[in-house]
Amino acid sequence: MAVASLSRNSNIALPIHPIAMSLLVVGSIAFDSIQTPKDQRERVMGGSGTYGSIAASFFAPVRLVGVVGNDWPKANWDFLLNRGIDLTGVAVAEHAKTFYWLGRYTPDLCDRETLEIELNAFQHFDPVIPHAFRDTPYVFLANTPPAIQLRVIDQLKNPQMVFADTVDLWIETMRPELLSVLRRIDGLLINDVEARQLTELDNVIAAGKAIQRLGPTFVIIKRGEHGAMFFGPDGVGVLPSYPVENIVDPTGAGDSFAGGMMGYLAGLGSTSPTDLKTAMAYGALVASFAVENFSIERLEQIDRAAIEKRMASYRAMLQV
Ligand code: AMP
Repeated sequence: MAVASLSRNSNIALPIHPIAMSLLVVGSIAFDSIQTPKDQRERVMGGSGTYGSIAASFFAPVRLVGVVGNDWPKANWDFLLNRGIDLTGVAVAEHAKTFYWLGRYTPDLCDRETLEIELNAFQHFDPVIPHAFRDTPYVFLANTPPAIQLRVIDQLKNPQMVFADTVDLWIETMRPELLSVLRRIDGLLINDVEARQLTELDNVIAAGKAIQRLGPTFVIIKRGEHGAMFFGPDGVGVLPSYPVENIVDPTGAGDSFAGGMMGYLAGLGSTSPTDLKTAMAYGALVASFAVENFSIERLEQIDRAAIEKRMASYRAMLQV
């Protein structure tokens, strides 16, 4: 059972609450090559589903659905399993390689360019949610084509809370499918540039409200180091990012934010807007750790106690 295996992991000092609900994460599992102005890494562990599920695993039992190729190393499987992540839903494409992404960051680390993308195993990925996972109460649809997100939604049985992430590529190339996703989820995570692109509105507040009208009750607009905006049934809220002095690699910040947030909600078993705001703060903190090193290296080192310690200083910073 996931809770038991989590407690065996010495990295997780605070055990997950015994009544924590499970979170289903569907996303890419990848090899990333990353170039920053100061350093670079080749073929390290990455992917929206990978970051999302690792971030969530600090708070709740996680079930990951995705696909890898025949080159996914045993060490990576073991790492995810040791975090208590259930990999029953991860398919292995025998005759293909794992999804590969090569990104290069601008000197200020605020923007990046995709230099190469090889879909490989991901190209024909048809997510089959194991029967035992279909009634998972909390679901995070990390960045995948919206057609895949729809396939997942079709297989879910009475989920309590479904959040999805998306990116500019799908707004551009799969808008009708994305609009269908929006009608069927509770919350959307999107960055400010994409929110403007999706709605064709310049003002980010107007854009957030317009997205709510397309379906989701909750909209979270991520603004990188400037934090996030929250649109719920009771109006608009803001949350700053936790200030990080030494950002090494921003890759996975968005997925870590979302995974941490959804994991926290599942751990609590809540869907209330108030708890969602606290959950966003936890997401922001997990993201702040993720960017302190390449790939998942920093997340590998921390535990729940480290997150709580950072939460104490974050709360102090938030007081006005
Ligand atoms: P983030 O920095 O939070 O946007 O997430 C970056 C991660 O998303 C990287 O680890 C990539 O492997 C993965 N990724 C990049 N492009 C795509 C894509 N088109 N579909 C799915 N995952 C992607």
